[in-house]
Amino acid sequence: MAPLSFDAAALVDRLRGTFRSGRTRPVAWRREQLGRLRDLLTENSVGITDAVYEDLQRPHQDSLRAEVNASVREIDHVLRHLDEWLRPQPVPVDGSPMPPGTTASTSYDPLGVVLIIGPWNHPVHLLAMPMIGALAAGNTVVVKPSELAPATSALFARRVAAYLDSEAVAVVEGAAPETTALLAQRFDHIFYTGNGAVGRVVARAAAEHLTPVTLELGGKCPVFVDSTTDLDIAARRLAESKFANAGQTCVAPDYVLTDRATSARLAEKLRDVVTDLYGEDPSRSPRFGRLVNERHFDRVERLLSSSGRTVVGGQSDRDDRYVAPTVLVGVSPADPVMQEEILGPILPIVEVEGLDEAIAYINDHDSPLALYGFTEDETARARLTDGTSSGGVAFGQAMWQLLVPDLPFGGVGESGMGNYHGRSSLATFSHLKSRLDVPA
Ligand code: NAD
Repeated sequence: MAPLSFDAAALVDRLRGTFRSGRTRPVAWRREQLGRLRDLLTENSVGITDAVYEDLQRPHQDSLRAEVNASVREIDHVLRHLDEWLRPQPVPVDGSPMPPGTTASTSYDPLGVVLIIGPWNHPVHLLAMPMIGALAAGNTVVVKPSELAPATSALFARRVAAYLDSEAVAVVEGAAPETTALLAQRFDHIFYTGNGAVGRVVARAAAEHLTPVTLELGGKCPVFVDSTTDLDIAARRLAESKFANAGQTCVAPDYVLTDRATSARLAEKLRDVVTDLYGEDPSRSPRFGRLVNERHFDRVERLLSSSGRTVVGGQSDRDDRYVAPTVLVGVSPADPVMQEEILGPILPIVEVEGLDEAIAYINDHDSPLALYGFTEDETARARLTDGTSSGGVAFGQAMWQLLVPDLPFGGVGESGMGNYHGRSSLATFSHLKSRLDVPA
């Protein structure tokens, strides 16, 4: 194996030295770094959207929204609230045998050196968002972008070196060997976003050092639709969220569960919306992206063969890594498309008798990162919320839960552990330290 271009132990030692020096603790330093990350994003927005286009052929406007603007909004939110969040919180001492005048409190203590490992599908957002939390909490940070988005990885590494405090923040580019070398070191927190197989590798390596981990994983996000919903609205929102980034989003709707009559009507409407969004030939649409590489293309193309009927799409072109936005109706739960996370532009519709069968189906499978419901029936909403397990539920819209900064974002079970965004990020990248003051 070729020698690595960096010394992982020396890097972590250096960043730990910075942390121990106390440089990253003052709130002023944290604010300054967040401001510089903000500048990095806004001053390089064209470079970032170009790089993501090179890696994913994703429309620039989509990347501006998802990679740059969403991260900038998070920075602004954190900057607005950081002082308040960092203030020690008094804890009542009643119920304890303490003398009068005793006080107790909690405060967020930085952890030390944090490792952030990102995936290819939102290659800036999924580095910047955890970095915001790690910096706000006063840590030093090693960032490992995905090698599957090489243009974005290279740009991000160059820009971080130019904008952020190089004594405290480092980017290591590379693939499994580089990550493996990093994972052999002792970190104080590891934040990993990607698939569950590598998530297990990360958790095993972290266990060696008793390092806490956040695992932001994937899974199949179900959508329940019933006849009480406005199907025109549901079809548009489903198509827009499913087919953005060519379906390569961890919280994209994966499949739909609905009754037979609704299924037929929804399928027709989805066909019309897809044509409206991307034209008769989506391969020519500037709004539609491509799969990240040939391996993923082959995987997604294989999922097109299903027992259902193709309502729209179905075409593919390996040379172009193109799979058309596709809606399949009458899909069987035994079909390949229902056996794994699709992470591509295929939306299968599976017919169920009603809510009971939908809930039973969801509960028979791994807990998803998100569960969506398009129903005006409050009882159905309550049963979907309380009767199933998922990272989060959203009704009436898909993927918008990410836009509310203080809604914790994370999975449960196979979709991950831990959460972040907004205030939750500060908690994730800190130790909640307790303090007791007993009077003399
Ligand atoms: P990926 O292949 O880019 O891998 C993620 C990271 O793991 C990369 O940095 C990669 O270098 C590293 N890696 C790969 N193999 C490794 C190994 N053997 N040892 C150590 N590190 C290794 O991305 P991916 O896993 O294909 O990402 C897609 C998955 O991520 C999907 O399941 C998707 O749902 C999930 N995802 C989850 C979220 C979330 O926020 N929960 C967001 C995006 C993607």
